[in-house]
Amino acid sequence: MLDLATNVQFVKGIGPKIAQILLEKGISTVEDLLYYLPFRYEDRLNPRGIGELRAGEMASIIAEVRTFGLFRTRRMPIFEMTVGQGRDTLKCMWFNATYLQDKFRAGMLLALYGKVEAGDRGGHRFEIIQPQYEVLHDPTATHGNGAGDEPKWQSLEVGRIVPIYETAGNGRLTARWFRRVIHGMLEGLDQDPPDAIPPAVRGRMGLIDRRRAFWQAHWPEVGESLPNLQAARTPAHIRLIFEELFFLELGLELKRRKMRAQTGTAFQISDRVRGAVKRILPFHPTAAQKRVLKEIAADMAEPAPMRRLLQGDVGSGKTIVALEAAVIAMENGYQAALMAPTEILATQHYLSARRILEPAGYRIVLLTGSQESGRKRQARHHIAQGNAQLVIGTHALIQETVEFDKLGLVIVDEQHRFGVLQRFRLMKKTNQAEPDVLVMTATPIPRTLALTLYGDLDTSVLDELPPGRTPITTRRVGDERSEEVWEFVRKQVAAGRQAYIVYPVIEEGAMEGELKAAIKMYEQLRKREFVGLRVGLLHGRMSAEEKDATMASFQRGDIDVLVSTTVIEVGVDVANANIMVVEHAERFGLSQLHQLRGRIGRGSAKSYCVLMTGGKVSVEAEQRLEAMVRTQNGFEIAELDLQQRGPGEFFGTRQAGMPNFRVANLLRDRELLEAARREARYVLAGPNPDLTKEEIARAVQHLRGHWNRRYGLVEVG
Ligand code: ADP
Ligand code: MG
Repeated sequence: MLDLATNVQFVKGIGPKIAQILLEKGISTVEDLLYYLPFRYEDRLNPRGIGELRAGEMASIIAEVRTFGLFRTRRMPIFEMTVGQGRDTLKCMWFNATYLQDKFRAGMLLALYGKVEAGDRGGHRFEIIQPQYEVLHDPTATHGNGAGDEPKWQSLEVGRIVPIYETAGNGRLTARWFRRVIHGMLEGLDQDPPDAIPPAVRGRMGLIDRRRAFWQAHWPEVGESLPNLQAARTPAHIRLIFEELFFLELGLELKRRKMRAQTGTAFQISDRVRGAVKRILPFHPTAAQKRVLKEIAADMAEPAPMRRLLQGDVGSGKTIVALEAAVIAMENGYQAALMAPTEILATQHYLSARRILEPAGYRIVLLTGSQESGRKRQARHHIAQGNAQLVIGTHALIQETVEFDKLGLVIVDEQHRFGVLQRFRLMKKTNQAEPDVLVMTATPIPRTLALTLYGDLDTSVLDELPPGRTPITTRRVGDERSEEVWEFVRKQVAAGRQAYIVYPVIEEGAMEGELKAAIKMYEQLRKREFVGLRVGLLHGRMSAEEKDATMASFQRGDIDVLVSTTVIEVGVDVANANIMVVEHAERFGLSQLHQLRGRIGRGSAKSYCVLMTGGKVSVEAEQRLEAMVRTQNGFEIAELDLQQRGPGEFFGTRQAGMPNFRVANLLRDRELLEAARREARYVLAGPNPDLTKEEIARAVQHLRGHWNRRYGLVEVG
């Protein structure tokens, strides 16, 4: 008998050689192979008469072999066969199919499946190119050899809904091979150990048991709905998907609880502290800012360490909320750290923090890699002594080199770089009480991803823009109209405004030869289109000091037009800049375009985003541009971006923390994910009349052992 952990090479029909091929697909155990689910299903329930076929449909036909032969054309050998039902005949063709020569004999009964096409050669109304076939009966076979002697095997291919698998080993392991082997394996499978999902949860979700789920996902029962199968919405699929998501959420919830059980700091939120927070405000906070601060303050007041994710679209005003939180910590006699992904951003945060906090007497230091070492040493000294109350710097610098006197709050400005792992490193590093942590992100994260990647965090959302913003007008323009665009930029500059012009790459490489490079265009724009204007250049290969200097002079208004690569995409705030021209906009991802557009519309002047396209625009790029013109809502854009690129690529690079699901699909299974989270919280909330201690323990044990060995992403001690 087989159990789930058995190596696949011991499954009937698989030996060491085939096991090697399967390994390339990530399949090494019986369980892995059980999870190798059909990627689609074919309805072969009703074999059709040749007379009732129609061109263009998929059909299964049972017919008798009449004639066949191999024809060599100049391009390739073609195997042709005529099959018949009484007087009706049908032609079948297989290309490059020399291997079929000896397979058939006249009189054999075949099951065929494929796409029916109108026949173009004499005598046949229809033909099928490359049909899948199966020999149902071979009248000439001697005893024991005929396919007709294996009724089970026969039933796998026709007269039912048939599972279609991806082939493996360059087609060596066909869909048909998988059907046969997986079927045999299911029959030889031991009974499952008791279900690790507690009965109360199974009951509420209406889950069928696991073994049945595997059977039915591979071999749907008669009467199962084909659309439900294709959409992975049968009871079998739901069971398997829910299981995967449930244990993920159980792990995240366990982690959240473990974190909350640690000792943090219960900050006092007295009237004095409230007064101090109010005093720093340069403007009336929006309702959303008030609500979010309240959520943060409530976390900070609790003894458990805060682990909160603050999502806010570009320009929604996260900075002031962060500074308010810092004030709470500082008023309680603690230090706060604000970490930014780049030096430019750290510096910008430092400047706003000084403007807002120094008048109230708070002591702030900046720590960046480009500072000369004497200054860095001095800053570190102040931090260690507790003189510095708010420390602002880049992630790496603060995490790796700084010793705090009394760190109470860490604010991580992640923008759109998701250093999930960094977050944990920081948390491990501190030795006294765990500091509170607030992670801020400017890329709205679709809820399914937030639940998966940040399920251990609480979330706050800033879903309102500060008042006085005029909406940005976004236009799509072909680059043959660039003259008009430059003219428009000149007019705006004459009116005292500033513009960004963004290019996808720095220099013209061999690969992207036709792309206009920032450097080249900078020269051209300066000498031709923008003669007399002050044009600046910013790109990723400049040193940090050069970048900062350029950015600073743009901020001061000493540069009218800033030609740049996407380095400006993260968070730099220049309220007077009201034009964003993106060349080759078709090359940019949606979130990237959204971030770029977020650089403008920050002042009171009307802002314009011009998306210029050059050359061929793919269907997907077309959708992106259309979405940019249609909406400014970051969450809507993020959802579309997720759909286009899939969860793995959503963040620009493959995300280290993304679980490698076997059946679940975040784009499709959002509701099941929500349910899984709800149920995981219910289970870890403790025993109740429907849920015993043992059942909880079994679920957690399954998570720590079996589940974690496979997915290995939730550290749950
Ligand atoms: P982001 O969320 O992108 O980091 P910022 O915190 O940089 O946004 O805020 C964007 C701009 O809006 C800043 O110039 C900031 O001073 C301003 N701002 C933020 N909140 C308000 C508010 N409630 N009223 C007016 N202006 C605000
Ligand atoms: Mg910001």
